[in-house]
Amino acid sequence: MTENQRIAELIFGKLNKSADDYEIEYPAIELKEGQRITRIAPSPTGYLHLGVLFTALINRRTADATDGMFYLRIEDTDAKREVDGGMADIINGLVHFGVNIDEGYVSPTETKGNYGPYKQSERGDIYHVYVKKLMEEGYAYPCFCTEQKLADNRTIQESNKERTGYYGKYAFCRNLSFDEIKAKIDNGMPYVVRLRSPGDENRRITFDDGIKGKIEMPENDEDFVLLKSDGIPTYHFAHAVDDHLMRTTHVIRGDEWISSVPKHIQLFKLLGFKVPKYCHVSPIMKEENGSKRKLSKRKDPEAAVHFYAEQGYPADSVTEYLLTIANSDFEDWRRANSSLLNKEFKLNLKKMSVSGALFDIVKLNDVSKNVISKFTAERVVSELLEWAKKYDTDYYALLSRDIEFTKNIFNIDRDTPKPRKDIAKWNEAKEYSAYFFDELYHNNYELPEKLNASHAINILTEYLSVYDENDSKEEWFNKIKEICPKCNFCPDVKEYKKNPNSYNGHVGDAATIIRVAITGRTNSPDLCSIMALIGSEKVLKRINDAIAHFKEV
Ligand code: GLU
Repeated sequence: MTENQRIAELIFGKLNKSADDYEIEYPAIELKEGQRITRIAPSPTGYLHLGVLFTALINRRTADATDGMFYLRIEDTDAKREVDGGMADIINGLVHFGVNIDEGYVSPTETKGNYGPYKQSERGDIYHVYVKKLMEEGYAYPCFCTEQKLADNRTIQESNKERTGYYGKYAFCRNLSFDEIKAKIDNGMPYVVRLRSPGDENRRITFDDGIKGKIEMPENDEDFVLLKSDGIPTYHFAHAVDDHLMRTTHVIRGDEWISSVPKHIQLFKLLGFKVPKYCHVSPIMKEENGSKRKLSKRKDPEAAVHFYAEQGYPADSVTEYLLTIANSDFEDWRRANSSLLNKEFKLNLKKMSVSGALFDIVKLNDVSKNVISKFTAERVVSELLEWAKKYDTDYYALLSRDIEFTKNIFNIDRDTPKPRKDIAKWNEAKEYSAYFFDELYHNNYELPEKLNASHAINILTEYLSVYDENDSKEEWFNKIKEICPKCNFCPDVKEYKKNPNSYNGHVGDAATIIRVAITGRTNSPDLCSIMALIGSEKVLKRINDAIAHFKEV
């Protein structure tokens, strides 16, 4: 036995399995040319963040573009920072927003696939096998330095204007002998396991990032920690072991990890693993006072994915919007393929923004209005009810009182080549539909400037005398035309424009007066359909109330 093997044996004892066993247990997956295996590997240290949803979507669509596979692994090596319910929130949120998961945790309680366990806290035995292997080969060693010693070391390095860290002459435990190590362990001294880095900071590594292109960095010469004193691996080490054994081909992750790539490539090589393709996603940015900054979990409510659920953005809208900021050609694709599902769009990593896409809520609202405008009334009602049940129970009660009526509200002007784009999110639906429900309707008798109360009284009184709730759209409009001359309104808009001073208004203005009386607004979907839907009782009452109001002013 070599000295290194003796140290490894001292630290880990006999382990049940070897690295070779794991190669057999988790065999390489036969992939078709170009096929990709991607993953999202969230830490349950908080709730689902837009950046994680974005990265997960990029991973999902990258796998889809090659008929590949996307899985979810839970990285729970930091128990202290874990948040109750964080894992369920993340997984449910991803699934809700259209990122379906093929393997790993497909729901908070269910896993699929043969490459698990998919939670790092259940993979302790596996990590130990690989650390032991590195130690036997001389690439890892136990380190007994205390927190205090490390802090003092940092102070010295800072005052010497040197790079901080555990490397070179500052890697104090690097050359401890078996006997020295044994004595410390026998004394009960706690220790971590560090990499014995063969790297040299004067040499450089290059790699071709799938999003950012060629990147060059100094080699890693730091003896960074592989196993913490409780035997739990660090992110760096777990990443290498897990992404190898789970056969990830593309590691697509946030670019806060880009500076760690030299460590990761080094680990993959020392462990004898094929290095995956790294793709670093730039963070979503926000413009503030003319400059760009990262969307912040603390400062920006829209950074939390809950925000979108609460406001009632359909999942599809959020996905479409994220695709818009992911690939600049998505919008052109969407214009050319307006009826296709966005799943058909082939995401291209090379077309992702390197500097960070800018988050723009106005744009999100536009995208969402467009998405909702293409929904059938059934879909609107089903998504709206689901939202209202959770976030506005009074409105839910109104909507579910008569589902057919509710469906008809949202069907007005929907089935047309140019459907209206009034609603961006479900929390706007209540205001949009208010005049259909007496409980929500607020009269507002504000007329456009050129019209006054006496015009309104005339038009409404005349209209009452001809109104018939069974009128077709054509009859309805003809009647409004018919009453125009009696009130000195012009039944023909073109005619009116030739001589506006001779009239009080035109047929459109007459309709506006009726619209204001019925809906409290100067702009609404098709008024004839609205009147037909709310029925004669409400129509008559609202017109009479309006006449009474205008008589008082
Ligand atoms: N657990 C890491 C994180 O949440 C994952 C990074 C990765 O995708 O490798 O940042």
